[in-house]
Amino acid sequence: MKKQLIVIGAGTMGRGIAQVFAQAGFDVCLTDAAPAALDSAQAHIHKMLDRAVEKGKLGAGEATAAKERIRTVASLSQTPSASLIIEAATEKPQIKTEILKAAQNHLTDDGILATNTSSISITQLAAATDHPDRFIGMHFFNPVPLMKLVEVVRGLETSDETVKRAVALAESTGKTPICCNDHPGFVSNRVLMPMINEAIFCLQDGVAEPDAIDGIMKLGMNHPMGPLALADLIGLDVCLFILEVLHRDLGEDRYRPCPMLRKLVQAGRLGRKSKHGFFRYE
Ligand code: NAD
Repeated sequence: MKKQLIVIGAGTMGRGIAQVFAQAGFDVCLTDAAPAALDSAQAHIHKMLDRAVEKGKLGAGEATAAKERIRTVASLSQTPSASLIIEAATEKPQIKTEILKAAQNHLTDDGILATNTSSISITQLAAATDHPDRFIGMHFFNPVPLMKLVEVVRGLETSDETVKRAVALAESTGKTPICCNDHPGFVSNRVLMPMINEAIFCLQDGVAEPDAIDGIMKLGMNHPMGPLALADLIGLDVCLFILEVLHRDLGEDRYRPCPMLRKLVQAGRLGRKSKHGFFRYE
């Protein structure tokens, strides 16, 4: 049986998800509301696959086959039905709800609808669909081709069968799925974001400069990246949004987003994607 996937949103995450599933033999339709995002996603995926070939991690034939399995389409209406749809669009509940309502019409009869949201309630998004039992969180990590984990998040109505299938789908791409229940920030961001936020408070309070904050956390805690560089990689707008969800939904001051984070986002300093966050990128 043909393995077909639709990925909605071709930004940082969607392009990576499309790539790993194409490498695992899925025919992937990648769609985005912004035509420029589709062009840039395709160029990025080709570059990543070519680099993997140069490094001897992937055969040239496999890279070509993966490229051929990804089709970019301007709108969801142009995609055929698929047994798996992963939504990886902008982290805004209203955008996601509208996408998911439309996307469910492109699922096969027993298809699974998944979201890559970092923080929006899976249960809430599922409620906007006709089959919340076949709705699940498949939370990939950035950069998707390199990061092993998929946090599989079970909403209130998600069925055991859907969890089992999502786990198998993640494994089929070579990832390691780990399951958790739907709570604000799941496990990953509930633990990570307060650390990033505290690092920004350190900067705001003049405790140390960005290089020193990251250096201390890297060398002292054995973290592969410092919290500020990681925030730049995730996207400062994404970090702010997640902290706002944690603050509102868990109702505790310890999740209050640092004012400096808010200011950087207002200034358009979003991290790597805008080439300037806590650090500059060429
Ligand atoms: P991004 O801003 O890089 O990309 C989002 C894409 O969605 C954009 O290309 C945008 O044009 C597109 N989009 C917006 N509205 C759309 C619509 N109606 N239809 C189709 N496409 C639309 O964001 P990202 O960092 O890739 O994040 C995507 C999702 O993944 C978010 O839910 C985010 O929370 C989650 N996530 C992000 C990270 C990370 O490190 N960036 C990690 C895990 C999960």
